[in-house]
Amino acid sequence: MRRLFVAGNWKMNLDGCRSHDLAEGLKKQLADVQDVRVAVFPPYVYLNCVANVLNKTPIEVGAQNMYPEPEGAYTGEVSGAMLTDVGCRCVILGHSERRHVIGETDEFINRKVHKALECGLEPVLCLGETLEQRRAGQMEKVVSGQLRAGLDGVSAGQMEKITVAYEPVWAIGTGETATPEQADQAHACLRNVLGEVYDEEVAEATIIQYGGSVKPDNAADLLSMPNVDGALVGGASLSVESFVPIVQAALN
Ligand code: PEP
Repeated sequence: MRRLFVAGNWKMNLDGCRSHDLAEGLKKQLADVQDVRVAVFPPYVYLNCVANVLNKTPIEVGAQNMYPEPEGAYTGEVSGAMLTDVGCRCVILGHSERRHVIGETDEFINRKVHKALECGLEPVLCLGETLEQRRAGQMEKVVSGQLRAGLDGVSAGQMEKITVAYEPVWAIGTGETATPEQADQAHACLRNVLGEVYDEEVAEATIIQYGGSVKPDNAADLLSMPNVDGALVGGASLSVESFVPIVQAALN
């Protein structure tokens, strides 16, 4: 039985005060959450503050990105060791905004996956097709390719540290959500690939989140699908009022 995982990607939003208050609000409302894994991903500069607020609570803290080198002359970048140092347990890698706005490649994302694991971080590997690719009937080909490339060289044993997040690009921040059936179909495809690359055990055990305009009013339907094991939430993770009901939908 897979334990659902609901994560909030705060992206480049909030300020120090609001990040602190959101963390305090989540701490109050989700102090007893156990049956669902919950994590928040604040901007780098607020990680320390949020991790301090959420210390000794069941809510994990992660970063939205990292650089795949241990240290050195990489101006503006942040290493995996720095993230664990400020209390991160997990890290989002390959988010569509980094693939499509910043231009990250599968190969670069794969390097980050390996470095994150080496640093003791648990990667949330994001992937998903664009609208053009979906319309051209290429969804399965695209997401399978991204999954294989992102996990290249990752062992079956390391897979227990990896979460996959299916995030169709056309549904992120657009208000347009994949239907529960569309999400389940993509997740089933990804699970098949995991079975081919690894084995049935890994395929069945891997958590595959859905992301793309998840809101309190659509979360329950999405999370009821057999292959949907949680949600990666952007906009609706920015307030206690919209994030907590999504976690509650996962608990039901
Ligand atoms: C995301 O940032 O990963 C995301 C899915 O955003 P939104 O929920 O706002 O679509």
